Amino acid sequence: MSFDTLGLAPPLLNALASQKYLKPYPIQEKAIPAVLRRKDVLGIAKTGSGKTASYVLPILTNLEGRIMDKSRYISVLVLVPTRELAIQVNDVFHDFGSVLPDQVRSMAVYGGVSINPQMKSLYGVNVLVATPGRLLELVESKAVQLSAIETLVLDEADKMLNLGFKEEMNRIFELLPAKRQNLLFSATLSNDVKEINQLLLNDPEVIEV
Ligand code: AMP
Repeated sequence: MSFDTLGLAPPLLNALASQKYLKPYPIQEKAIPAVLRRKDVLGIAKTGSGKTASYVLPILTNLEGRIMDKSRYISVLVLVPTRELAIQVNDVFHDFGSVLPDQVRSMAVYGGVSINPQMKSLYGVNVLVATPGRLLELVESKAVQLSAIETLVLDEADKMLNLGFKEEMNRIFELLPAKRQNLLFSATLSNDVKEINQLLLNDPEVIEV
């Protein structure tokens, strides 16, 4: 199996080769085609499995050619438990997104730092990677609009729930358009994760690695 046959945007294939991603990891082999088909996905996978690229690459492919100039609205929302993961995921979106003609703009927002610079940089962002608390602050101050989200990713959902973000997550879900793609990644299938799966995911492709 190689990346070439999975249906990714051709510039991404060159970027994968230059970043020494020689062949897809199992989660990538299974998740990439499903995400490209706009299916919901439940991925039970740990850090180190390659889960980040398994959603970043097909999301970028789905966005390519559809980025409206200076769009005011975010189309992809990735919720993560920590600042570290926010920065890491944003870096992957940035590294791969920068090779596409559309120059998809991604940004990470997280708490513990001043909110003003984040508010000022949000204009024109297509992919927002956020921790739940800071995202809600940005929504409340009208710096972020979630009504055009097409794809929601929950990364390390179990950790997000363990850190006490359940209420914030539920508030965020209520702000999203009903018709969207949902991708749920978690290292474990805890009861809380099962609950979110039932609440949010529609006939998901279940991938366990
Ligand atoms: P993740 O589980 O998403 O945190 O990824 C773990 C590490 O594996 C990261 O450093 C990635 O850059 C790397 N990686 C992901 N997919 C591949 C691949 N197909 N080939 C080689 N390295 C990869």
